[in-house]
Amino acid sequence: MKDSLLEKEKVFTAPAPEKILNFGPIRLVPGQKGGRYPYCHSLVLEGEETWVVDPASDKGFLSRLARTPGVDRVFISHFHEDHQKYNYLFPNAWFYAPAPEAAAFTSMDAIFDLMGLEDPRYLKYWGETLVKEFRFQPLKNLILYEPGQQFQNRDIILEIIAAPGHTPGHSFFNFPRQELIFLADVDLSPFGPWYGDTASDLDAFEATLDRLRQMEARTYLTAHEQGVFTPKEFHAGLAQFRQVIRDREERLLEMLRTPHTLPQLVERRLIYGKVKEPPFVYDHIEAQMVGKHLERLLRRGLVAPTPEGYVAG
Ligand SMILES: [Zn+2]
Repeated sequence: MKDSLLEKEKVFTAPAPEKILNFGPIRLVPGQKGGRYPYCHSLVLEGEETWVVDPASDKGFLSRLARTPGVDRVFISHFHEDHQKYNYLFPNAWFYAPAPEAAAFTSMDAIFDLMGLEDPRYLKYWGETLVKEFRFQPLKNLILYEPGQQFQNRDIILEIIAAPGHTPGHSFFNFPRQELIFLADVDLSPFGPWYGDTASDLDAFEATLDRLRQMEARTYLTAHEQGVFTPKEFHAGLAQFRQVIRDREERLLEMLRTPHTLPQLVERRLIYGKVKEPPFVYDHIEAQMVGKHLERLLRRGLVAPTPEGYVAG
């Protein structure tokens, strides 16, 4: 028992890679800050052409790659800004993005819609942040991909796997020849699954995690933090990651032994556990994530609305 607890801790304390890792023709480029927001780990796929996945890791490395040998195609797992921070380094590349969230690659309003932003302060702040920090510009050379599609670059076959929940178009990239799969923001981090946009879907996220359990590979890569998992680490990490959703729901039910309105629940910071800045951003995310739990607890009859707020039982 003690051993298995230690094992679990080990899974979650492994640091992000510090150096580039090679898996045959596939390289993982560690994101700055341990692959934490606003960065993520990128992949470089070397074949007849040079392809990049989620270019938000390391500006110096990606700039050099853009010069020599040059980058032909860029694959993006989903519309979040921390996966596209350095798109602008590749003005001549073709960009491949998931069809279900197509509009978010050419329009800032579409991003706001998917996120569910209504607060004018947040809209102003986010519009400025996307332009200043992420150099948002509508993607030209945009090609939309669909689940099941395969793209070949000499020894590499990149296969699109739908993995909705985090966002509607969130996708895994499977590389059957290297027995490797890139899980993007199913990052197996201790924080757990993130479903803080209006367009995020909690049930779809859980279904994605359940399907993922059956996906066999030799190496599992994620976009943030630890980034590289053996099959054993992956299975332990996935079980814990999945468990975070259940723990959140249990904490919520516990809180709802006394009536709470959604704004009161938001103040309790059930998801983040502490106050983070700016508050209106985290108010929004907490309301989205707690709201999705509430919605399904209401649907299942485990929570009821009362004049004083929601109550369990
Ligand atoms: Zn994301």
